[in-house]
This record gives sequence, structure tokens and C-alpha cells, in this order.
Amino acid sequence: MSTNSRFHRAVVTGGGGFLGSYVCEQLLDSGVEVVCVDNFSTGHRSYISHLVGDSRFSLLEADVSQGFEVTGSVDLVLHMASPASIPEFYRLPIETMLVGGPGTYHCLQLAHRQGARFVLASTSEVYGDPLKHPQDEEYWGNVNPIGPRSVYDEAKRYAEALTIAYGKQHGVSVGIARIFNSYGPRMRPDGRVISGFIAQALDGLPLEIHGDGEQTRSPCYGEDTARGILAIAHSDYGLPVNIGNTQEVSIKDLALMVCEVAGVDAELKYIEADADDPRQRRPDITRAKRELGWAPRISLREGLRRTVESARRERQASDREEEQ
Ligand code: NAD
Repeated sequence: MSTNSRFHRAVVTGGGGFLGSYVCEQLLDSGVEVVCVDNFSTGHRSYISHLVGDSRFSLLEADVSQGFEVTGSVDLVLHMASPASIPEFYRLPIETMLVGGPGTYHCLQLAHRQGARFVLASTSEVYGDPLKHPQDEEYWGNVNPIGPRSVYDEAKRYAEALTIAYGKQHGVSVGIARIFNSYGPRMRPDGRVISGFIAQALDGLPLEIHGDGEQTRSPCYGEDTARGILAIAHSDYGLPVNIGNTQEVSIKDLALMVCEVAGVDAELKYIEADADDPRQRRPDITRAKRELGWAPRISLREGLRRTVESARRERQASDREEEQ
């Protein structure tokens, strides 16, 4: 197959997760072979079941934090493995720290041995509850180092520091994607705001809003996010780049939008706020536009429409399975 990528073979840790599965698909579409490394602690085999028959795709089941061996040469290492939602990193606090620490180190070592480019999937959570708005990459963040979400925020901050230090010390080509809230088909409802709202709307339940609902997010469609991560891979850019959508919306308006797109008239129910929940989140994506020529393409309304449609299809399929 012809390739329109500069890479031949990529390792994607966390490739069996929500965003990782899009990255695997997009790499295969551009002619790159993919080795997906995942332990399915939070991801799901069904996300990549459609890729498993492809001879250019292989799956290595391993815990990245323990180290892993890849046979054959690779020229790109994307480290995306990590629990990534509040209930998941509450359930797996030590694992979250380890995959950001030793996990990142093992991936950097692999890139070093292979002379491959390395890209870290970091997060807007490195900005914590930001005192600067919107957040550009020069902002250092406002993070509680011992709060309940600190295992995630600090693991990613450590992973970023390690990536930069390793790149400098060993001359490895490194990139860092600071990913803002993403959503789309395959995202699990538990602990993720949009997929949670969609599940509640389709179940005819009230939409549960943590806190007063005035806190904002700037959700980015998952396929756009994956394209942004790969744009960083294809560049030689070495500093962090925000990957996110600039369309900022309050959680309450997001809930109302989900109801409208899903065509349901659900009640909004206000519940306890999450600890250290950021009040405002909007990326400044000037750097991504300038250095990578990347910007999101899918509007929030269109992304929600596609996500609701996919959730409906999944429900119909599982209803049919139950009937059989
Ligand atoms: P996800 O949970 O769907 O995917 C993460 C994958 O990593 C899962 O398949 C999981 O099984 C795997 N994994 C976790 N620990 C592992 C380990 N020790 N060894 C091997 N595999 C392991 O989450 P996602 O939303 O797809 O997030 C992917 C990456 O993007 C994460 O690094 C996350 O921090 C980052 N990110 C995501 C978002 C978002 O909104 N989804 C926002 C910011 C950053």
C-alpha cells in the first residue's frame, strides 16, 4: 500500500482506548503499520476489533509501566496509555502515576533505541484550575499536588518534564500534545461529561450536572484530536502544543445542547461538584495553527449529532443481541 506519511511503522501505547483507536485508524489509513500496546485496564477490545484482521495491525497486550519488547523496527512511538477519566484514575491511582512515570520512560527508551520520533499524549489538566484564560502553552498551571485528581495531573506534568529532559540528554526527537476534553463515538459514559449526558438523555433520565453548571469546557471531536496528535508526530516541533477546540461552552449549555440534538426533553439535576474541578477551560491554539497548520474541523453541534447517532446505533445493536 502506498503511504502518505513519513513513517513506516508506529507503536501506539493505549491504542485500544478511545483516542488511541482513532490514531491507529488514521495511521493505517495513511499506510503506516501499527503496533498497538494495551493492557485494556480502561480501553476496550471492541474499539479495535475492526482493525485486528488487518495484516498491518498487531496487538501486544502488555503493561507499559512494566516495560515491553517490540520486534522489528519502528520510527514513531506515541505514548497514549493512561487512565484518563476521574472515576478511572480514582480507581487506578498508582497505575496512573506509574504509566506517566516509568511508562513514559520505557517509551522514550524504545524511541531512543530505534531512532524513532516520540510523542506524549499529555493533557490540559497540566494547567489545573487555570488562573489564565484562555490557556496558552506558556502558562505553567495551577495544580493541587495532593488533591484527588493530582495522580493524573502530576503524572502528566512529570511525563512532560521527563520527555523534554530525555529529548535533550539523548537527542531523541520528541513532541508533546496537550489534549483538551475530547468526545465522540466509543467514549465511555462513566465519568466523561458528554457521553454521560448522552447516555442519560437516551435512557430518559435527568442529566446530572456537577456543581452549578457554569464551569466551562471546550470539547473537541475525537477524530480532530487524533489528527492533531498525528500532526505533531509529522512535524519536528519539540515543545508542547495545545490540541483542542476553541468553542467554549458551559456545562449547563452543553447539557441543553445534548437534549436538543438527541430530541429529548430531559430534566437537569444539579449534584455535588467534583473536587478541584476547573472553572474554565479553553485552549489558545495559535501555536497548533502556526506550527502544524492544524485546527479542528468538526463543530460541536455536528460532533454531538454524530456521537448521539452512534450511541443510538450501539443501543439498538445490543438490544438486538439481547433478543437473540
Ligand atoms: P482511554 O482510557 O480510552 O485510553 C487509554 C488506553 O490506555 C486504554 O486502552 C487503557 O487500557 C490503556 N492503558 C492504561 N494504562 C495502561 C498501561 N499501564 N499499559 C498499557 N495500556 C494502558 O482514554 P483516552 O480518552 O483515549 O485517552 C488517551 C490518552 O489521551 C491518555 O493518555 C489521556 O491522558 C490523554 N487525554 C485524553 C483526553 C480526553 O478528553 N479523552 C484529554 C486529555 C488527554
